[in-house]
Amino acid sequence: MSLYHDIVVVGGGASGTIVATQLLLQAETPLQLCCVEPGPRLGAGLAYGRCSDKHVLNVPANRISAMAGDAEHFLHWLQQQQSPPQDPGDFYARRQLYADYLADCLQQALHSGQQQHQFTHQQQMVTAMRPTAEGWQLRLDDNRLLKARQVVLALGNLPAARPPGSLQHLLRSDRYLHDPWRLQQLQPDRAERIAIIGSGLTALDTLQTLIRSDHRGAIEVFSRSGQWPTVQTSHRQAYPFNPRATRLRELVREIRTQIKTAQAQDIDWRNVIDGLRPHTQALWSGFSETEKSRFRRYLLSTWNRHRHRIPPRAAQQLQQWEQAGRFSLSRARRLEAIAGADEIRLRSHDQAAWSSFQLVINATGPCGHLSRAVSPLLQQLLADAVIRSGPCNVGVDSLADGQIIGPDDQPVAGLYAIGPLRQGTLLETTAMPEIKLQAQQLAAALLH
Ligand SMILES: Cc1cc2nc3c(=O)[nH]c(=O)nc-3n(C[C@H](O)[C@H](O)[C@H](O)COP(=O)(O)OP(=O)(O)OC[C@H]3O[C@@H](n4cnc5c(N)ncnc54)[C@H](O)[C@@H]3O)c2cc1C
Repeated sequence: MSLYHDIVVVGGGASGTIVATQLLLQAETPLQLCCVEPGPRLGAGLAYGRCSDKHVLNVPANRISAMAGDAEHFLHWLQQQQSPPQDPGDFYARRQLYADYLADCLQQALHSGQQQHQFTHQQQMVTAMRPTAEGWQLRLDDNRLLKARQVVLALGNLPAARPPGSLQHLLRSDRYLHDPWRLQQLQPDRAERIAIIGSGLTALDTLQTLIRSDHRGAIEVFSRSGQWPTVQTSHRQAYPFNPRATRLRELVREIRTQIKTAQAQDIDWRNVIDGLRPHTQALWSGFSETEKSRFRRYLLSTWNRHRHRIPPRAAQQLQQWEQAGRFSLSRARRLEAIAGADEIRLRSHDQAAWSSFQLVINATGPCGHLSRAVSPLLQQLLADAVIRSGPCNVGVDSLADGQIIGPDDQPVAGLYAIGPLRQGTLLETTAMPEIKLQAQQLAAALLH
């Protein structure tokens, strides 16, 4: 097997798999393409691989096609699987099924075209990479080397941020689970008292995993907002919203006004937020650094609660579980913790009473800060001054087409990024509608 490739895609989650699919579909001459992904299934990644068969997508089936320009692609695929939904606008497919879909898109692209492409999946991690005269040399974790003319980094979300100062000592405790995706392997005792920190989508996943595995001990969820994400609606209608404001403060005002106007016409607020989505990246790139930092500091969690919503059934179930006493959710602006050998005691800084837990799970979601990323590859690229952080120190800096910008302000030849890694530059880049578009455009740029 040749270790030389035209293009190497590092990471085989949804982003890596879709960009590989697009490359195979668009290439007009035979392509030597390699995807390096430690997991056995391309397409699964964190979102669609590290979940149980009960976890569902948070977007209905008619809005989660992976192929740009073909909005019904996922629906047609479901039909071929003999499981067409009756109401696609209200059908939330299983996440594991979505991983099968992405893997199938890649297989079909590989076998459908006229070209004799060579595609390999290296089940490894890339630990380091360096520029060469011809392109890039990548080191795998078994120490083999790959060579490529061009490389796409599709590494997904950066792992969770370190806990805030008052909780950092928890990292040394066996009773603290910093990476919530390890919960399924951990299989805690069913009677344990468990605390979950965070109340976003990661926390919801964690809670669902626990309750569905018939956890019987008390579960307490603590978060700054004390609120779950908002709920999807089946009352969807297009609400074209071309904001006039370009500055953050005015934009917030304009969104509020639009929501009031929409509600006066009996139009659900979610349609206004969705109507803004095609403009989000342009608005974000027009903000000053100060506006971007302000947004991340004061508005990001509210934005996320309203932008990244949960399916109605998941919300109903949460309500039932809460009423049945399976968990409780409390607002805690700042948590304090004392770690002992057998338990961790937690309390909100404004309360006198401590609560004891046998396990505390960090579910505050991914960290955007590149300098805090634990990925050896990203650390090496930073140390070698190949990449730099994006705005607000989040993700990697990149041009509109995904080409990475180095610390010298110059585009890095043959090095591109896709998906959540571009969050600092684009803000809206973690969900399928944006990823599929990036994949299509990036493939075109790479092939030319
Ligand atoms: C739990 C969860 C649920 C979600 N649900 C939805 C949803 O319903 N709808 C939606 O639109 N979006 C959803 N998202 C958003 C999600 O970010 C995107 O949909 C998409 O899955 C991102 O894929 P990715 O490939 O960029 O990242 P990931 O899925 O994180 O995949 C990155 C891959 O890169 C690999 N990797 C990392 N470092 C290296 C390395 N050095 N060498 C080789 N490989 C490496 C990892 O093994 C991993 O498989 C969800 C996200 C999460 C976390």
